[in-house]
Formats: sequence, structure tokens, C-alpha cells
Amino acid sequence: NFNRHDKDKEVNVQVLLRCRPLSDDEQRLNVPKVITCNDNRREVTVLQSVGSKQVDRVFTFDKVFGPKAQQRSIYDQAISPIVTQVLDGFNCTVFAYGQTGTGKTYTMEGGMRNKAGELPAEAGVIPRAVRQIFDTLESQNADYSMKVTFLELYNEEITDLLATEDQLKFTEERQKKNISLMEDGKGSVIIRGLEEEAVYSANEIYSLLERGAGRRRTADTLLNKHSSRSHSIFTITVHIKEGAVGDDELIKCGKLNLVDLAGSENISRSGAREGRAREAGEINKSLLTLGRVINALVEHSIHVPYRDSKLTRLLRDSLGGKTKTCIIATISPSALCLEETLSTLDYAYRAK
Ligand code: ADP
Ligand code: MG
Repeated sequence: NFNRHDKDKEVNVQVLLRCRPLSDDEQRLNVPKVITCNDNRREVTVLQSVGSKQVDRVFTFDKVFGPKAQQRSIYDQAISPIVTQVLDGFNCTVFAYGQTGTGKTYTMEGGMRNKAGELPAEAGVIPRAVRQIFDTLESQNADYSMKVTFLELYNEEITDLLATEDQLKFTEERQKKNISLMEDGKGSVIIRGLEEEAVYSANEIYSLLERGAGRRRTADTLLNKHSSRSHSIFTITVHIKEGAVGDDELIKCGKLNLVDLAGSENISRSGAREGRAREAGEINKSLLTLGRVINALVEHSIHVPYRDSKLTRLLRDSLGGKTKTCIIATISPSALCLEETLSTLDYAYRAK
């Protein structure tokens, strides 16, 4: 039995656990379930038989969302307070972490909007965050500006998911669009060559998102396992004018990173099998480094290995220090996923 109460330390990393329902196929095939969730007690129980004995393991998280949890309740309970912090000038990051097929993309994107442009019930974190940000700023009559970027990291290479067809054609001729990272000396990274779109309405963001998400799906059909091996990072930066002191304008700047990580199966087995660690690390150096960075932050280590991967370099100004991080670990209830589920639970549990 694990308990994760550490009330003395400032809580900057929040870990949530979400278990998806069995799919229709899994139900038809009578796939056994090995996970039970108790949302109220914030507990996940893994049923494991060892020999003829039933050995249950119980994990506690900051929040637990069982198979019946609706997109909206996850958002309202766990994400909405983070978005409020962003509007107060914090840099915040929400990660979806888990085995491929457990609901990372469903949790982050879900349905973007229906025909009337409204949020459907299955809308995930990204469209709901966009809506909350605009609704709040509009209701405060705020003087603000907003920019978004949407990129993908595959094999430590960055692809701009917002580049237009014209830009892509142009760059195809010149091989690859050159996106590079440069430190700005103040703890942030400058991404050169990335489109930053200024946006003025929620619908404009939804269109950009659909464009970027569509590009990811295309890549999936061209290259098997593409999306399971790549990370996507959607970032919203908001500048809000707060007034002025003399001639100086006071501007509050907040940033929200919404990250759909590569499938955790890309690293989890490497921990168990020594000899494969290097190969798996190469497949996903960023996923491996993210785990180390989060552990270092949680343990208040002096050295945080941000520089060891592109993902952690990109997110450096939003991880650690005065920032908020939320990890949504996603699992399947199926017995067939047991091994991966246990690694996800261990990873998520260690993140605190
Ligand atoms: P991942 O991005 O982790 O590979 P997906 O988000 O693509 O996984 O989910 C796999 C499938 O399961 C999709 O068809 C998705 O719609 C469905 N799914 C995932 N989570 C849920 C959920 N909580 N409720 C209903 N369907 C879900
Ligand atoms: Mg996905």
C-alpha cells in the first residue's frame, strides 16, 4: 500500500490517474479486467494472481478517474485550477503519459468542437482550456494578446505542426525546415524557425489545432507507430496588460503547455531489462529524460538534467521553480496490459 501525502513540501507536481473503459472489442472478447478504481478514495487497485494466490496492489494518487469519469469532470476538477494559474502569470504544463491505446490523445484532444462550434461532451483538455482562457479574458474585458505554437518531437527532431502547405512545399525543396533550439541565457529556450500564430478567438485556435492534429494523423498512416513514438506539444502564451506604473506598462505573462507524450511502452521495459536500455533510450531519449527531470524536481536535487533531451529543453521554463505541472497517467483495465499498466503506475507514483 502506497501513500503519497507530503504536506510539508510545496506541491508543484500533481499526478492524476485515469483508467479508460474496456473497448467494445475487448468486451466482446470477454477480456478480463485487472483494475478497479475508487475515485473517492483516490485509489487504484491492481488484481494480480501470483501462483494460485490473489495479490492486490493499491496505489494512491492526487486524483483518480475511473472508467466512468467524464471529460468534463476531469477538466473541472483537475485542469481548470491550472488554467487559472496560467492567467495569473504562471507557466504550467499538463502531460498525458501512458501506454499507446490507453487514452492520452482522447484525454488531451477528444472531440474539438461540434458543427455549431460548441464544445461536445467528449472534448478533452485542450479545447476546454482554450475555451476557459477566452471566456475568462473576455469576461474581465482584459487587454491581452495570445500566441500559440504546436509542434511535434520525433526522434529528437522538431516538426512544426502549424506550418502551412506553402511553407512545407518551400521547405521540401530546401530539404528540411530548420528548427533549432537556442538558450536565451535566462533559463528559457528560443525555438528558431517555428511558426507562432497570433490568435484572437477560440474558433481560430480550434482550426489551427485541427490542422496540426490532421497532420499527425497523416504521418500515422504514412509511418506505422509514428504517433506512438512522437510527442506533441501545444503551447498557448498569454500576455495580459494589468495597468501602468509611470511610463512602464505592467504585463502579466502566462504559458500553458499541453503535451501528448509518446507511448510509455517505448521506455518502460528498458528499466527491467538492462541490455535493452540503451536501444530504448535512443528510441525515446526525451521520455526517459522527462522522468529523470521530474524525479530530480520532486526530490529537490541540485542537478536537474534539462539539457539531456529536446523535450526537457523545450519545456525548461515551465518545469520546476515557480511553475505547476500536472501528469495525467492513463491506463487500460485489461489483463492483457497488466505489465505496462504496472510500469505506468510505478512511473506516475515515483513522479511525486
Ligand atoms: P493513445 O493516444 O494513448 O494511444 P487514444 O486516445 O488514441 O490512445 O485512445 C485509444 C482508443 O480508446 C480511442 O478509440 C479512444 O477514443 C478510446 N478511449 C480512450 N480513452 C477513453 C475514455 N476514457 N472513454 C472512452 N473512450 C476512450
Ligand atoms: Mg495518441
